[in-house]
Amino acid sequence: MKIVVYGLGNRGYRFIRDIMEILPEIEIVAVTDTYMQKSESKKYADIPYISPGCIQKYEYDYIIVTPENFYQEITSTLLDKGVDQRKIKSLEEFQKNRKKFYCNICESKIFAWEYIGEDYEIFQNKSIAGAGKRRGGCTVCGSYDRARFVYDIMKNFTEIFSGNADGILHFAPESTISNKLKKKYGEQYISADIMEGRADVVADITKLQFDNEQFEYIIYNHVMEHVYEEKKAFEEIRRCLKPEGVFIFSSPICWSQKTYENNNAITARDRIKYYGQEDHVRLYGNDIVDRIEEYGFDVNLMHCSEIKSEDKIKKFGFLKDDSVLLCRKN
Ligand SMILES: [Zn+2]
Repeated sequence: MKIVVYGLGNRGYRFIRDIMEILPEIEIVAVTDTYMQKSESKKYADIPYISPGCIQKYEYDYIIVTPENFYQEITSTLLDKGVDQRKIKSLEEFQKNRKKFYCNICESKIFAWEYIGEDYEIFQNKSIAGAGKRRGGCTVCGSYDRARFVYDIMKNFTEIFSGNADGILHFAPESTISNKLKKKYGEQYISADIMEGRADVVADITKLQFDNEQFEYIIYNHVMEHVYEEKKAFEEIRRCLKPEGVFIFSSPICWSQKTYENNNAITARDRIKYYGQEDHVRLYGNDIVDRIEEYGFDVNLMHCSEIKSEDKIKKFGFLKDDSVLLCRKN
């Protein structure tokens, strides 16, 4: 198939990039009429471009009009030039029946995941699940790959959504998951964060203000790698969990090495170098299960590629090495 992409604004560029990466069999020609945009398109990708006046000399299956606000205007200009109306599509119309991905959180079909994460050197040398630049953002609700996987685990491997949990604490809550829990549980659900305004209450992980055995579930996703006093944090989780209560844990994990902590890494630059993020204080590794079990939990490691088929991982935009640890207080 050959398409003409009309307009090289942000939407046009993003669309070309998505097509090249997701549907590489489609041949693209770009249409632009300003020199500025031409030079940018060169920088962006090595695609041929033509001026609007030359469209009719070209053979193509569709013209995709990418500017949202000028769609009507451009379409009538094209019709005046004798372009077949059936060949003119808006970006949304073209994508509509070509959405191969699915967001389990907002239940939307997705054409292409958005790029998220940072492109630091450590991610080229080490494979760290749940970090690094990748296609993982939902274009509808903004959820990340790791949030979609945690949500899948919570839904299919715990009774949070199917049953009636007696108290839930969710620290540094992902808004997409938090909204669902709040809707189901009301005041039985408490979200917390160390910063004011980010959740229902402000809380210090190493000194929680909650009662002994108050919660049936405590959820910390991508939290513990920020916490120096890990032991204190786990003691507090244990104290606030009911007997047999479950702590839901996830974080970036490097499976090719043991957990790494370097007390000399205190600058942002060093932390990015060693851990992949400026405010992390350790990089968890393949000893993670033993590490948490020592704090008094029975850990069930849910590793994505062990419980999901390749097709499902692709469709739902999960990370194959992502993990969620269901840690039952013992
Ligand atoms: Zn979504």
